Amino acid sequence: MNNTAAVTIIGLGEMGRALADALIMAGGRTTVWNRSAAKADGLVARGAIRAATVEEAVLASPLSLVCLLDYDVADAILRPAAGALRGLTLVNLTNGTPDQARKAEGWARGHGAAYLDGGIMAIPSTVATSQAFVLYSGQKSHFEAHKETLEAIGAAKYLGADAGIAALYDLALLSAMNVMFDGFFHSVAMATSHDEGSAVGFTELLMPWLTNMAQVMPAFAADVDSDAEPVLVQGLDVVLASVRNMAQASHDAGVRADYFEHSAATLEKLPFSNALMRAGDPAILVAHRS
Ligand code: NDP
Repeated sequence: MNNTAAVTIIGLGEMGRALADALIMAGGRTTVWNRSAAKADGLVARGAIRAATVEEAVLASPLSLVCLLDYDVADAILRPAAGALRGLTLVNLTNGTPDQARKAEGWARGHGAAYLDGGIMAIPSTVATSQAFVLYSGQKSHFEAHKETLEAIGAAKYLGADAGIAALYDLALLSAMNVMFDGFFHSVAMATSHDEGSAVGFTELLMPWLTNMAQVMPAFAADVDSDAEPVLVQGLDVVLASVRNMAQASHDAGVRADYFEHSAATLEKLPFSNALMRAGDPAILVAHRS
């Protein structure tokens, strides 16, 4: 980070404090504000400047990062400081929907501020490590003006001018994670229904299995994007039979089977004429969209 870059962080929860620490470490002047002021104490001890009000906080830096519980809280906190925003840049890293992001951009623009929306693909302990990346959307010139500074919290990935696209991709990525963890707990519940099953032992098998299966995703994705005949095919009857078995075995093990019952019902409705489940067939995405 440019040593002269000054940044303000509004919101010092678990994530906001990690962002502030990363920016302090990067060497810029870091101003912080939080409703519960005591959460700034450690940061101030490490070199941050505590602002007394939100207005004082935004005026301290050309760039302010906002990291709060949700957009309603962000709106309530920023609104009283609206008159101070002209000529400054707000980067809202609060989790929210694409529509909320677009509305926030309109509100910020209306007060003369540049606005970027962002999605943090990290947990507090991985901020500023090689694992962390952050999605951004909004006017490209705003992103380019602050990219170097933003890189201090994680690799900065610009997605496009529509302020909502970072939130869309953030929530799409989180939804994949969410379903993965649901799948994890489902499979552990099945495995530990057996007298000899242990979550730790089972997970030693699950990790390499899922890691291997994740390698197939780029080929699925290429099929989805291509107009050509999909490359990856599987017998629909084979897939359906195993999904029905997953539902039955879950049920027999005293584990909820509704996901697999729904999955089987979806597969039964797919309009495949040749009994092949084509990974990239739009019908699969259509089934997810309905
Ligand atoms: P925390 O619960 O630790 O912090 C919440 C923040 O919101 C605090 O600054 C809190 O202030 C403030 N806040 C909550 N309610 C109010 C209110 N009514 N009025 C004023 N301030 C309020 O959450 P995180 O820091 O973990 O998360 C912040 C954002 O970062 C979320 O949008 C989250 O989805 C996102 N994020 C978090 C990740 C994580 O692993 N933690 C990962 C990726 C994104 P106070 O301290 O005064 O309560």
